[in-house]
Order: sequence, then structure tokens, then C-alpha cells
Amino acid sequence: MPSSPDATVLDQRKVAASRMFAVSRYPYLASALFAAQVHPAEGSGTIAVDRGWQVHADPEVLDAMAVADFGRLLVHLVSHLLRDHATRAERASVDGTNGDPEAWNKASDAEVNDDLVPLGMVPPCAADLPVVLDAEDGRLAEHYYELARSGARSWDCGSGCDGVDRPWDDKGAAGGLNDRDGEFLRLAVASELQRSEAREPGTVAAGWLRWAEKLLPSRTDWRRVLAAEVQVGVTRVAGMVDYSYRRPSRRSESTPSVIMPTLERPVPDVAIVCDTSGSMTGDLLGRVLVEVESILQRVGLRGTNVRVLSCDAQVHTVKRVSHASQIELLGGGGTDMGEGITQALALRPRPSIVVVLTDGFTPWPTEAPPRAKVIVGLIEGHGLSQWMHRIPAPPSWAKVVRISETTNDRSR
Ligand SMILES: [Zn+2]
Repeated sequence: MPSSPDATVLDQRKVAASRMFAVSRYPYLASALFAAQVHPAEGSGTIAVDRGWQVHADPEVLDAMAVADFGRLLVHLVSHLLRDHATRAERASVDGTNGDPEAWNKASDAEVNDDLVPLGMVPPCAADLPVVLDAEDGRLAEHYYELARSGARSWDCGSGCDGVDRPWDDKGAAGGLNDRDGEFLRLAVASELQRSEAREPGTVAAGWLRWAEKLLPSRTDWRRVLAAEVQVGVTRVAGMVDYSYRRPSRRSESTPSVIMPTLERPVPDVAIVCDTSGSMTGDLLGRVLVEVESILQRVGLRGTNVRVLSCDAQVHTVKRVSHASQIELLGGGGTDMGEGITQALALRPRPSIVVVLTDGFTPWPTEAPPRAKVIVGLIEGHGLSQWMHRIPAPPSWAKVVRISETTNDRSR
């Protein structure tokens, strides 16, 4: 067993390799896996997660663990956070006089682990499954909790699991996510997971799909999805979530599953490219733009960080605006949103997030633009449904948020 010469230093190569292993098994959990930074917690005797998505690892425990097993444990630990076990533990009074944090740990492990079985990703150190509690699969921690009260936990998963403070928690405070960012991350992962299942049905475990549907009950609730996508992009740019990954081409089956991390530029600017071509109605676009503007404000972006471009086959206007009413809807010819994206990324300072608002009647670039996150707001207007089958599929490298005109799900 290789042992670190200094017991307070983490083996960062092992951490990186384990994370890549985890991302290769669950690409749709990538945002969460990269948000979970790993800090040394000498002498803790465990590898645990706190409520700010920070992982605290005893270097000696990490040294004794294989790369793949730490990868499995990372998936397991972020699963506690995605499912918000700490908040749910509070609701179940786990920390109260009659509470039992160890039983909750066991119960929430059972909820997490049964979805990790199909890919062989249950971590050996925290391997409790519903069957050890004489319970059926697919239930929630709250159900398993009462059954778990007779036994001690096998592994301490930390405050991110049971909501009870640990002595090492403050060490990750600087890099930790606050509640709001954590909630946005959950929404973005849920949305990514649903897209992944839509692209390739059967790839996402049933328990994960149930979780995502609970979080995003309506597929037309585009405001929450768009807000989450923008927030995760901004958070990433601000350095709190330091990740980006590319997947190899689907066409070549022989390509090994290599995930390449890439570096992001720290400019949290957003450009909005508006499709003003003939197929769009200005009225609809204007209303959507007003809502997008309020979403951007809600995630903390000021007018000076948002630039709006009107675009059909060529970009007509590039303006910094503070209100949607200042947008000039020009154009009316053919459509090429690829040109709009190119022009947006030529702005200085270069925006790191481009939101494209379009009805989808446009060609798209085949390659993803470098160092930028593109979010396509696909506006599904009235009277166009008969043409929907003719809309070219938006590119797989863009995050697509379907904007439906139905108004009964208008939140906030
Ligand atoms: Zn656990």
C-alpha cells in the first residue's frame, strides 16, 4: 500500500483520476462531481461531505482506497447532496433528542445505493442497500430510517448527509456552495439527466429519473431550467465550479471514453442573441426577452453584464441594454444563428455565456464554440406546430431549454 510521506497532504492525482472515473460512468452528474472539491481532514477517519458540497478526506483513508472505489464514493457522496439529505434529515428531526444520525446515514445510504447497483458503482466502504434493512428497493430515506434504528452506520458520510456539524466542515467553507447555488446545481443536474435520458432512453437509473421529475415536475417550466443553466455557468466562471468536459464523438465506437477538462475564462458576461427573422413574431420574442431579462437579474447579473444582439442572416445591432424595451427588432430575412453566436463571441469583453432565443428555423454550427456555454431557448409559438417536424435539431453541444407559450406554469 503506497502511503503519503505527509499525512496531511492529499494525493491530488488520485483525486483527479477518481473524479474522471466517476464522470465517465455518470456524465450527467458532471456538474455536481466537479463542484465537490476535496480537502484534507487529517485524522477524521473518513471521507465525508458537508452541506456546501465540499468533500473532506482523511489522507490516510484516501491512500488506502483504490481509484475506482474513491470514484464510487464521490458519486455516492454527491448523491446525498443532490437528494438534499441534510435538509430532509432536519425535517425528520434526526438531530433532535429522539433522533439518530447514524440510522439516518444508513437509511440515506440505502436510498442512494440501489440506483448505483446497475453500473456496479456502489462504494464498498458505504455499501448498505435496502436489503440489509429487510426493505424493498426504490423507497426514500424517510421510509428506511425507522428500520435502520437498530444498527450503527458503516461509514460516516458527513453533515451533507445528516445535517449535523462535523469538526472539519469549516475547512471547506471558502470554496463551498451556498444554499442557493446548491439548489441551482440540483436543477441543472436534473435537467441534464432528463436530456440524457431523452437522447438515449434507458441510460439513466429509474430512481434518478423519479428524483429529476420531482424537482422539475413540468418540462415546460423553462424559467427554472434557464435560470439554473445560467447560474451554473456564472458560478463556474466565478471559479466556484471549476469544470468543463468534452465527450468524444458518438460516431466512433472505438474511441475510449476520454473526458477532457478544459479551462474557462473568468468573465461572467452574458450575450443574448435574438432571432429576428421572418419566422419569428416580434410580440412573442419581446415577451420572452422580458422574462429572460428578469431571470438574469434574479441570478445576480446586472444590465452592464448583459448584451443583446438582434440577428437574422446577419447581425443588425449589437447593443448593451438595461431593459428589454430598448431592443430593436430588425431583420426579417433568412436566419443563421451561427452568425449571431460568432458575433456575440467577438464582443469584448468576450461573454462566457451566450443565450440564443429562436424558433429553431436556423442552421447551426457543427462544432461547439470554444470556451463558451451556449444555451438555446427554443421558443415554441402558436401556429407553428405543423412545422415543428421541419425544425432542424439544435446541436448536441448546446443546452436546449424549450420555451413554451403556455402561461399557466408562470412561476413567481
Ligand atoms: Zn452515504
